Amino acid sequence: MSRYVLALDQGTTSSRAILFDHDGAVAGVDQYEFTQHFPRPGWVEHDPEEIWTSQLRAARGALAAAGAAARDVAAIGISNQRETALVWDRATGEPLYNAIVWQSRQTAPICDALRERGLEDEVRARTGLVIDSYFSGTKFRFILDAIDGAQARAERGELACGTVDSWLLHKLTKGGVHATEYSNASRTLLYNIHERRWDDRLLDALRLPKALLPEVCASSGIFGMADAEWLGAEIPIAGIAGDQQAALFGQGCTQPGQAKNTYGTGCFLLMNTGSEAHRSETGLLTTLAWGIADRVDYALEGSIFVAGSAVQWLRDGIGLIESAAESEALAASVEDTGGVYLVPAFVGLGAPYWDERARGALVGITRGTSRAHVVRATLEAIAYQTRDVVECMREDSGLALESLRVDGGACANDFLMQFQADVLGASVERPALLEVTAKGAAALAGLAVGHWSDLGELGSGDELRVFEPRMDAGRRDALYADWKRAVERSREWDRG
Ligand code: ADP
Repeated sequence: MSRYVLALDQGTTSSRAILFDHDGAVAGVDQYEFTQHFPRPGWVEHDPEEIWTSQLRAARGALAAAGAAARDVAAIGISNQRETALVWDRATGEPLYNAIVWQSRQTAPICDALRERGLEDEVRARTGLVIDSYFSGTKFRFILDAIDGAQARAERGELACGTVDSWLLHKLTKGGVHATEYSNASRTLLYNIHERRWDDRLLDALRLPKALLPEVCASSGIFGMADAEWLGAEIPIAGIAGDQQAALFGQGCTQPGQAKNTYGTGCFLLMNTGSEAHRSETGLLTTLAWGIADRVDYALEGSIFVAGSAVQWLRDGIGLIESAAESEALAASVEDTGGVYLVPAFVGLGAPYWDERARGALVGITRGTSRAHVVRATLEAIAYQTRDVVECMREDSGLALESLRVDGGACANDFLMQFQADVLGASVERPALLEVTAKGAAALAGLAVGHWSDLGELGSGDELRVFEPRMDAGRRDALYADWKRAVERSREWDRG
């Protein structure tokens, strides 16, 4: 019997591969960074071949690290950086252009044109998204415009487009499969998340022929076989999800109201809303979480632009700390911030404020304010911003948040996690295994091939460190009310 499931975690800065054993423990890991291309200010691109070669190398490395062979692997699961877009030639497999990365702003003029045509409400109603260059659809348009003759070739059915999952599937199957799944499709701006089909109206708006698009499959199911040349034997590719949705699944948030927050550079908070898509009235995104067999789950998503990167700013920007980890002891060395609030609106504010002109603010400073107060205020700000998004989720979904599962680099900070529990008035649950994104992809794949029969078999819920709220409600409300006042001070600061 096969002992392992191999997860390919194709991220924005590196390609990772993790081999999970039957108990969900990590048996082997490998990781390679790849080049970030910045052809112009605000543009970010990746070399599609480098995405593939780094991913293949990591896959081989993870097997080698465990002393495993392909025949020991029951299935491959893929989690991928979302929204990053590619177009390639169906016959030769040659990419037409670099992969345009999710962060890249190069399609802003295409987005402006869509907005000018008054499509915003329709886009929101059909896709759950806002018109923004973040999403893939306008990136496909950009590539067809950038390459001579590409539009005609696309119309003749000679080209294929896709997100990174589709690209890896194409490579792994040697061009045999052109597919994606619900979570990735729901980030393209082209997919009707309610009717679950490519949306003709939006394809027309972007002049994208249907022949270009991948088939949309369930997230858990066999997509195709990885060719024997790559890892030594054929292996079924049996699960795919975008990284944030994979983390939601890997965290075991499969019931409505369950949510996870990833504390990295920014924060991505996703709440499972079950089989119902909740339209957000507060500026959150509505997205497909995954599809398993005939059932799909939806999620609400809130993005916080600056979280862990505010701690980086303490270290590299103003030199208040020498390492991110040091922030924990410093914050805990004082009882409170002495009334100081930091609003890290360094690039404006996301949900629920959506204020591009907001800028960072440090308020409430007195002669007694110390380095420790400012460091503590920075960590507290991450927790307050998370509460802002949680409030929106409560309002949009009508679901109470029972507990918040956490992952990402900054969730190692115990002070931050305890303060998060306090300021939410909900428990915060941190798993011992922080590879939840890869675990989610592995789970989707392992479930599809019968390697596991339910998520619990992977040790989901094991060894959680739970942070219970300890703060009394009066203090919580008073602190949060002052955070809101501090945010007001940061609003619309930049004159533009
Ligand atoms: P990403 O995937 O976005 O690159 P990671 O999940 O690797 O991010 O997390 C890195 C971020 O977490 C950095 O911004 C760093 O400042 C922050 N961070 C790491 N360790 C700590 C810590 N102990 N306390 C607070 N922040 C931390």
